Amino acid sequence: MVYFILIANIIFHGPCYSEEASDYSFMKDATLAPKLSLFDYIIIGGGTAGCALAATLSRNATVLVLERGGSPYDNPTATDIGNFANTVSNTTPNSWSQLFISEDGVYNSRARVLGGGTVLNAGFYTRAEDDYVAEAGWERDEVEAAYEWVERKVAFEPQIKGWQSAFRDGLLEAGVIPYNGFTYGHIYGTKIGGTIFDRDGHRHTAANLLLEYANQNTVIVYLHASVHKILFTTKGID
Ligand SMILES: Cc1cc2nc3c(=O)[nH]c(=O)nc-3n(C[C@H](O)[C@H](O)[C@H](O)COP(=O)(O)OP(=O)(O)OC[C@H]3O[C@@H](n4cnc5c(N)ncnc54)[C@H](O)[C@@H]3O)c2cc1C
Repeated sequence: MVYFILIANIIFHGPCYSEEASDYSFMKDATLAPKLSLFDYIIIGGGTAGCALAATLSRNATVLVLERGGSPYDNPTATDIGNFANTVSNTTPNSWSQLFISEDGVYNSRARVLGGGTVLNAGFYTRAEDDYVAEAGWERDEVEAAYEWVERKVAFEPQIKGWQSAFRDGLLEAGVIPYNGFTYGHIYGTKIGGTIFDRDGHRHTAANLLLEYANQNTVIVYLHASVHKILFTTKGID
């Protein structure tokens, strides 16, 4: 196996880590990091992709995740569906949502928290279209298995309450067809896809994939660790 040694220049922020999060012992504040440590893999950004990747790699390798934000478990109700608007619109300096302006001038938010966009986003979940998977050259069976891996932990069938059923029926009456019922598939005409909010309105995020799937003996997550510079070397470190 090829080992990379990566030296990350990390700006440490002050800890704001709750008692509750101390149960998650593989997540530590970056101020607790030793001066030198070696890992098979270092993932910068514990977001949607980073958490899933870390969970997978940790099955057979040592993994470090450097995340600039804090833990979503510090304030679990902030991720409930009722707090969606508040959480995404709170762009104060230490919040989970960072305001940015796109190159074409659109105001938007991006995540600054373990779990990344899945902590802030609208929670819609669908699988990629078959054509997309084929064009990407991915193995269909492996993609299927990956989707099932995600769906076992963080995807749900949404509850269709009054206004949702009225909206669906209105679309159908107006001739917006076909109607595919509930499906995770990205299919033309679908009106009821998946959600990462469970039936009680609790959001399940990519951080849950890390918590529930990672080998917690081989993964470490440093929080409040903004990576500013990466130096690669082919020489060993004594
Ligand atoms: C408001 C909103 C609603 C959305 N709704 C949906 C939806 O309903 N369904 C859907 O599928 N998608 C939705 N999206 C998009 C989706 O959330 C993103 O496409 C997805 O989260 C991107 O994943 P990612 O892993 O690329 O990045 P992210 O999930 O953003 O992860 C990046 C991570 O890297 C960290 N990071 C960044 N820079 C550094 C650094 N220098 N050092 C250390 N850490 C760093 C960040 O803090 C973050 O945790 C929405 C997005 C937004 C903003």
